[in-house]
Amino acid sequence: MAKSLVPEKIDNENLPPNTVKTLVPQVKVERVIKPAPPRYRNELAKYIIRRSADCIMCGKCVEVCPQGVHIMKEGYKYFAAPHQHTCIGPACQKTDHYCVDLCPQKALRMVENPMMKLLGDYRWPADLILATWKMAETGELPSPDYGYDYECGASEGGFDRLRFKFPEKPPVELREDEIDTSLELNRRNDGRPQIKLDVPWYGGGMSFGSVSNVTQLSKARAATAFNTFTCTGEGGYMERMQPYDDHTITQVATGLFGVREETIQRVRIVEFKYAQGAKPGLGGHLLADKVTPAVARMRETVLGISLFSPFPFHSVYSIEDHKKHMDWIKHINRRTLVSAKVSTPIDVDMVAVGSYSAGAHIVHLDGGYGGTGAAPDIAKKNIAMPIEYAIIKVHDFLVREGVRDKITLIASGGIRNAHDIAKAIALGADGVVVGTGELVALGCVRCSRCESGRG
Ligand code: SF4
Ligand code: SF4
Repeated sequence: MAKSLVPEKIDNENLPPNTVKTLVPQVKVERVIKPAPPRYRNELAKYIIRRSADCIMCGKCVEVCPQGVHIMKEGYKYFAAPHQHTCIGPACQKTDHYCVDLCPQKALRMVENPMMKLLGDYRWPADLILATWKMAETGELPSPDYGYDYECGASEGGFDRLRFKFPEKPPVELREDEIDTSLELNRRNDGRPQIKLDVPWYGGGMSFGSVSNVTQLSKARAATAFNTFTCTGEGGYMERMQPYDDHTITQVATGLFGVREETIQRVRIVEFKYAQGAKPGLGGHLLADKVTPAVARMRETVLGISLFSPFPFHSVYSIEDHKKHMDWIKHINRRTLVSAKVSTPIDVDMVAVGSYSAGAHIVHLDGGYGGTGAAPDIAKKNIAMPIEYAIIKVHDFLVREGVRDKITLIASGGIRNAHDIAKAIALGADGVVVGTGELVALGCVRCSRCESGRG
């Protein structure tokens, strides 16, 4: 590693002139919601309208449908591919423009798209995926007309069983400007800067290699717009990320791929990844196919050779070792906060208190529902404790140890939407990390072939 450029004493308000930080051009990303084009040329529809051979091309359905589903080419007298995804489905039956009833030939019928049964899984059913796509495109909740059930998955456990019971009339009427969703991350009062997010979530760690640089960059732009953070995952981050340094968490993981003093100095939060909830005890594995020239250069490895990150950190076997790790980062970057990302073994409460003792500002619990297709199913389904249990266990233990107010408790591993975020906070977390949800918003279909790079 290169010699550190950081002097011994740093005033947090006036950063030293010789840190890399001062060279970073900061960008201002406006927080405007702009509708984005659909990610697929043929968008998936929950309901589809089938037309039989009895159709006489009278054009009535084109005329009555306010959603523009039926498209008849003027003058040609034939139907173009319908815009099925704009059909509002059974909600239309109660209206006076229901094409199925109005067709004089009874040539139309509405069916649920058989694709809905193939898409997704119990934790991410098709409804939740389609609703996430719609929300990502519009910045709004999907219209209830579409009939998506996007509050829960279909696993019948954990977050999918927990429900909020909203009173018919709220006991206190709050104006929007009275609602505060911000989250302060430094509770140690240790002279390091306070970092305040506008929202109680930040983006999950996804390495350059496991995802493309375009994906990393779009995550960073979104994090900047929301005044929150994105995490680079293991493997370093490219120069194009530099304008977003103030909203970037860089990860130090067991393989130390891409870890350099310069990248640690650039950011405001450094995350030690001790384990992942999807595969505790297994470390990381980037398949050879994904070690492209750019990835190999970033990780200082060999093109086309699989990369393994061991488990655990071979330099950490005690709280004292853990503290040395934290001290190392804090010495290299005098203004950074340090997060410890751990999985959820049975003694996760002890691990959390140990992380506080070692000097962490954030303890990040990663439960067993997260992870991509790259994590083996046997690990995802059988090792880590579900995050709903881990949050309560850790919160209670931190309270009993008298340090709950001195550390920020972040939860991840199966947080899919705003409802899950609220449930995690209600159980005792301060905030959450969203990983898979970001990928679904970008177009992930949950095919679980992420490791192949051919999903
Ligand atoms: S209303 Fe019925 S008959 Fe007329 S164009 Fe549409 S499907 Fe065909
Ligand atoms: S059911 Fe309603 S929304 Fe769907 S195609 Fe017919 S008229 Fe349009």
